[in-house]
Amino acid sequence: MSDLETRLLIRGEQVAGEGDALTVENPYTEAEIASVGLPSAEQVDAAVAAAREAARGWAATPAIERGELLHEVAARMRARTDELAELMTLEGGKPRLENSDEVGWTAAAFDYYAEMGRNFGGRVIPSIESTQLSLVLKEPMGVVACIVPWNYPLLLLSWKVAPALAAGNTVVAKPSELTPMSTLALADCFDHLPPGVVNILAGAGEIGEAIVADERVDCVAFTGSIETGKKIAHVCADRVARVNLELGGKDPFIVCPDVAPAIEVAAKGGAWAAFLNAGQVCTSAERFYVLDAVYDDYLQAFVDYTNSLVVGDPLDPNTDIGPLVSARQRDRVAAQVDAAVAAGAEVVTGATNGGNGTGYFYAPTVVTGAPAETDLLREETFGPVAPLVRVRSLDEAIELANSTRFGLGCNVYTKDLDTIIRCMREIKAGTVWFNDPLTDNDAGPFGGMKQSGFGRELGQEGLEAFQETKHVHLETSLAPKEWWYPYGGGTPQPKGA
Ligand code: NAD
Repeated sequence: MSDLETRLLIRGEQVAGEGDALTVENPYTEAEIASVGLPSAEQVDAAVAAAREAARGWAATPAIERGELLHEVAARMRARTDELAELMTLEGGKPRLENSDEVGWTAAAFDYYAEMGRNFGGRVIPSIESTQLSLVLKEPMGVVACIVPWNYPLLLLSWKVAPALAAGNTVVAKPSELTPMSTLALADCFDHLPPGVVNILAGAGEIGEAIVADERVDCVAFTGSIETGKKIAHVCADRVARVNLELGGKDPFIVCPDVAPAIEVAAKGGAWAAFLNAGQVCTSAERFYVLDAVYDDYLQAFVDYTNSLVVGDPLDPNTDIGPLVSARQRDRVAAQVDAAVAAGAEVVTGATNGGNGTGYFYAPTVVTGAPAETDLLREETFGPVAPLVRVRSLDEAIELANSTRFGLGCNVYTKDLDTIIRCMREIKAGTVWFNDPLTDNDAGPFGGMKQSGFGRELGQEGLEAFQETKHVHLETSLAPKEWWYPYGGGTPQPKGA
């Protein structure tokens, strides 16, 4: 592995970190695969300073030119799909096929915002008088910090970096300490941009904190846990910095009786939604509410399909499910399942290590009978676990779906129009998918309600999240207004008379 991949990107230069070393581990082999030099305090300062200094020039660059440069970023990423996918697999444990897809989606986000950025700069609004022009201008904010987790390192970064750049901002990016390699390897994809427009650091919470607290950072775009999101929100509130939070989820998955003829499709869709990336997706289905009439058949089909999935080496093209990202993550998942079992739940399949030796595996697991108050049905699991709950009515399913502090996504399997309209309107979630779980759309805003966060990524909203709004009121005539001083009922006097 070349040492270039462990270099930071500061002011257009790829430089070795001068701080402590960060060890990167392969969650499949449990071996150390790299040592990344973290940035020193001076290097963090230099990255933010570089972004600040580049901000004026980048904001003044015509949007069409910025667009062309972003298309070039996308092309460079696509050309390196194999290398980037392999790095993501080695450091994160996600199956390689999924990582190749992720590189494609990442590049697509850059292409999408390359065009969006030159398509929208505000609007004209009706003016107060006919001699006037009133404009709503959308301007860059300045410097945007982009802080992301490990589960989709490149994709989640692109949902921030691409619109931030398209809107004319410069960026300081920080990947998760668990998956820095693939992000650091992106440096070459940005080296045709002016120096300082994109800066990439590495490190854990302390480096993130330093970036977030820096007064020169105008906006923080964060994806990660609710706990970290709250800390970041506090720091940003203190200095009234803009903040966009994409936090955790506990997505419900409702199965309605009318899907009986296609129960296997709904079961496969459910298993995909629960086990994709070993359940480490912010929108993983983590609570299944299945209507009584189809519950037994659904459970059977779900378990049969789960037992057919291949758990193993994430570089092997036949592998469906790789290891979890870390021992800590696997232990958290196992502890949540064990607590549910201690409270009366039953494991129908899984809940074992699932691997053949090394690797932080947890077998895809189906659980029934978990009491409603257990963490398994209330708090984020972030692992390959599907708890199924039998419900008597759609009312009960919707009530339970809305019963947590989360509101990221929700899936419903039904073709019944009344049910679709009720779920669409009554479920408190940023995305409601019907019969096609977890599919993203670059043009469709993505984000959470309730404690799952605020602000939206993707779509027009995802661009506006990185724009300031300025109202311009332009009077073309130099004439006094009749409402000016002096009062007293006299004829208004011309200015200077
Ligand atoms: P995390 O909150 O531990 O870390 C996320 C990032 O924040 C990392 O880069 C980390 O180094 C950094 N960080 C930690 N403390 C910080 C601080 N005080 N200041 C600034 N930065 C800090 O989350 P994680 O374990 O990496 O990721 C898993 C979480 O991410 C899950 O809760 C998951 O639901 C969530 N997630 C949400 C979405 C979404 O779009 N809503 C998408 C993916 C993951």
